[in-house]
Amino acid sequence: MNTPMVEPVQTLDWSTWERALVVVAHPDDPEYGLSAAVREWTDAGVEVSYLLLTHGEAGIQGMNPAEVGRLRAEEQRRACACVGVTDLIILEHPDSMLVYNLELRRDIARVIRQRRPDVVIVPNFGVEAYGGLNQADHRVAGLATIDGTRDAANPWAQRELLDDEGLDPWSASQLLIAGVDNPTHVVGVSEHAVECGVESLRAHEQYLEALPDHPRPEVFIPELLRQGAGLIEDSSSDFAMTFRVFDV
Ligand SMILES: [Zn+2]
Repeated sequence: MNTPMVEPVQTLDWSTWERALVVVAHPDDPEYGLSAAVREWTDAGVEVSYLLLTHGEAGIQGMNPAEVGRLRAEEQRRACACVGVTDLIILEHPDSMLVYNLELRRDIARVIRQRRPDVVIVPNFGVEAYGGLNQADHRVAGLATIDGTRDAANPWAQRELLDDEGLDPWSASQLLIAGVDNPTHVVGVSEHAVECGVESLRAHEQYLEALPDHPRPEVFIPELLRQGAGLIEDSSSDFAMTFRVFDV
């Protein structure tokens, strides 16, 4: 009988990073533990950009989507401020109806060629994630980010980016998937970064208000990050975010 190989989880070496790009479907998507790692990186001088593919306008029941889109963009700006992110890009793709296509890949590739990040980071986009079935937009955003990252590196892909917009190809070194059940790496985060991560989720105030059953950020985020740190025996940190790391 074959025993499945279990990969040992390692501490991620991010000491050479200068720039990172986080790609998500909605406002609040970076805030489920990832933003605590973002605080750790920005504190060390890494420039972290966020690319949101939608405004999350379908996210609050009983409220006009146009109003919700504006509100959630504003809440995301406040969340970004909690973790040292000043570069926030929000695209106009339709929330809850995000479609995987070449246009979406091109829009992601464009931002990668503009920002030239060392790493591209996307939250868990598995069919099963976060204790249940994942949301359609999350699945689409993840796949389009993988392919958009490769499009960004390929001079023969998405030709209008080079020919019409003058954007040279750029290859990120790694692609990270955050918050997975089968991580290859963890990033240790300080207690301060955990607190900032909690604040970043709380910044989505009206969004959370409309979700009375949502777990309390100050309870579940530290717990989630404590579990991450528990994956490494000699972890120097009590808290850590989990990632699967791939070379691009
Ligand atoms: Zn989402």
